[in-house]
Amino acid sequence: MKGWWNFPIVESLQRHFDYKMAFENDATAAALAEKWLGAAKDAEHFVFITISTGIGAGIFSHGKLITGATGNAGDVGHFVIDPSAGTCVCGQQGCWEYVASGTAIARQASELLEREVTSKEVFALAADGHQEMKALVDKVFRYIGVGCVTLINTLDPEKLVIGGGVSQIGEPLFETVREYVSKYALNPSGRSTPIVPAALLQDAGLIGAAALIHVDYK
Ligand SMILES: [Zn+2]
Repeated sequence: MKGWWNFPIVESLQRHFDYKMAFENDATAAALAEKWLGAAKDAEHFVFITISTGIGAGIFSHGKLITGATGNAGDVGHFVIDPSAGTCVCGQQGCWEYVASGTAIARQASELLEREVTSKEVFALAADGHQEMKALVDKVFRYIGVGCVTLINTLDPEKLVIGGGVSQIGEPLFETVREYVSKYALNPSGRSTPIVPAALLQDAGLIGAAALIHVDYK
């Protein structure tokens, strides 16, 4: 959102309210919520991955949120998985979210079926035995596994928490990702990394926003 670049949003709002204010990326806030009240309560090192219209992540290491030099750490949706897949909104070829987000599922299915379909419809068709959609869903789940292996190899987390709309499909996704990770993570410890669903579902971002004020996380 170029019009907002360098705009001091917190300072501008703070002038009008007496409340304490904070500003954070939604995936990062959701990671904080999962640490505060959700699936990562007991974890000092974990990655929360949200897979919905895009893919994002929040990263904890040594019990602290990793925010980076400018607050932009965790944009994992834009590491490249398959450069032959086509051009992502960021300009690179074949980013993770370009091949494995909900938007990516709907786009690829719509091309195959030559009509507009939603990711929800794709999952329903695959569950009904539609071979082409089943193959697409399997490919997407494998790509999610590929990204998870990269995160495990890079950050050595004690667990991965996956949330966002696409993760609501549940076990078929988690099974495929666990199996992929168990084969391809570099280290034996990485291969057995627990991969669990988010606990707070669609409320995670909001709870995380509250946690920004109530929890010492940095
Ligand atoms: Zn990208």
